[in-house]
Amino acid sequence: MLLSEFVTYPVNAENCVGCRICVDSCPSFALKAETMDGKIIITLREELCYGCGVCVDSCPFQTLDLVRRGLGEFRIEKEIVKVEGKVFKELSRKVIESGLCCGCGACTVCPPEGIVWEDGTVDFPDWERCRDCGICLKVCQRYDYEPLSGLGEYLEIVGAKSKRFKGQDGAIATEFLACALERGLVDTVLVVGRTKEWKPLVICVKHPDQLRSERVTGTKYSLSPILPELNRIIRRVKSVAIVGTPCIITGLRLLQREIPLYRKVKLAVALFCMENMRYSKLKEFLEKNGVRIEDALKFDIKKGKFIVLTRDGKFTCPVKELDEFVSSGCHYCQDFSGVNGDVSVGSVGSPKGYSTVVIRSELAKELFEYMVERGYVEVGDANVEVVKKLCDLKVKKAKRV
Ligand SMILES: Cc1cc2nc3c(=O)[nH]c(=O)nc-3n(C[C@H](O)[C@H](O)[C@H](O)COP(=O)(O)OP(=O)(O)OC[C@H]3O[C@@H](n4cnc5c(N)ncnc54)[C@H](O)[C@@H]3O)c2cc1C
Repeated sequence: MLLSEFVTYPVNAENCVGCRICVDSCPSFALKAETMDGKIIITLREELCYGCGVCVDSCPFQTLDLVRRGLGEFRIEKEIVKVEGKVFKELSRKVIESGLCCGCGACTVCPPEGIVWEDGTVDFPDWERCRDCGICLKVCQRYDYEPLSGLGEYLEIVGAKSKRFKGQDGAIATEFLACALERGLVDTVLVVGRTKEWKPLVICVKHPDQLRSERVTGTKYSLSPILPELNRIIRRVKSVAIVGTPCIITGLRLLQREIPLYRKVKLAVALFCMENMRYSKLKEFLEKNGVRIEDALKFDIKKGKFIVLTRDGKFTCPVKELDEFVSSGCHYCQDFSGVNGDVSVGSVGSPKGYSTVVIRSELAKELFEYMVERGYVEVGDANVEVVKKLCDLKVKKAKRV
C-alpha cells in the first residue's frame, strides 16, 4: 500500500463523544477502540493509516483532520455512561415514556442520526443502531432533572420596541437576530417560521431582510425543531444565532458544554414561556372549538386568556382550558424567563407593542447598545415585579419529578 504523507489526527479531541464511527469507517484498521476502566479509548497506529480521510469525513463533530505524518500515535479517552442495556433505552424509559421529555430535541445530536424529532416527540425507530456513546443522556436536561427557575442573572431589564420590524410584541427578538447578522457576529440565524396551517418550520436566515416576513416573526404555540435543525447544519456554518423557548436554550447550553463545536452558536435569544403544545394538539384544540387554524392571524396569551385573532374575529378562552393539550414535559418546567439566554425577551412587564428585554451577557448588552445608537429601537421601562411574579407562578404550578 502506498502511504500518503498525511495521517489522521484528533485536531479537536474535545469534540469526540466516543461514538467510534471513525473506527468502523477506517478501511485499513488503523483506528482501534477498546473499553477500559470505564472509558472508551480510541487509538491510531500511524503505520497502518494511509491518509485516505474517510474517518475525517465520517466524524459527526469535526474531531479529526489530516495532518503531516510524524506526530506519532494518538489516544482519545472518553468516559462511558454506565447504564443497563442500550443507552437509548435508558433515555426512553426515564425521559420519554415517563412524560418528562420537553421536546427540545438536543438528543438528535445522536451520532448515527438515529434519534428523530417529530411533532415535539423523539424516538429512535431502529434503536439497535444506538452506539451507546451516551451523548443523548449527557445533553438531556430532563435526565437527572434539576429544574432552573427565577429571573436568573442579568445586567439590565428594559422595555423596548423595534422601529424596523413587526413582531409578536416589540419585535425585539427579531432585532437582536438582525443586528447579530448586520454586525457580522454570525452568518446564520435559525428562526421558527410556519406554513399556512401554522405548522412550525425552522428557517435558516442569512440576511436581515429575510426577517421582515410575518411568517418568520411572531409566536407559534408549538414545539419547534430548532435544535434538530442546528444539529443538521452545525458542521456547515461558521457562526450561528438561535432563538427559542427556555428548554431549547438550555438544550443548547448542554450541547455547548459537551461538544465545543456547538460554541459556533454565538447568540442565544430566549423567549419567556409558561407552556407550549405539540402542533397536532394545538390543531386538535382549535378544531374542538370550531377555529380553522389556517384562518388564524395571530396567537397570544394575555392576562390568563388564550387568544386567537382570525380573519373574521377573535377566539378567546381561559388558558386553563389548554391544560390537557399542553405538552406533558412542560408541566415539569420551572423556567419562565429563560435563564440560559444571552438575552431573554417576553411580553409581560411591558406595555402593548413593547417587549420586556432581560439582558444577561456582555454580548447582548453590546448588541442592544448598537440598536439604540442606530436608532433602531424605542426604549422604555419594564416592570420587573410582574416578571418575577410569573417566574414564581411557574415554579408553583410545576409538577415535581
Ligand atoms: C410557546 C411560547 C410561549 C410563550 N409564553 C409567554 C408567556 O407566557 N408570557 C410572555 O410574556 N411571553 C411569552 N412568550 C414570548 C412572547 O410570545 C414573544 O415571543 C416575546 O415577547 C418576543 O416578542 P417579540 O415581538 O420581541 O418577538 P418577534 O420579534 O416576533 O420574534 C419572535 C421569535 O420567536 C421565534 N419563535 C416563535 N415561535 C417559536 C417557538 N414555538 N419556539 C421557538 N421559537 C419561536 C421566531 O422565530 C421569532 O424569531 C412565549 C413564546 C412562546 C414561543
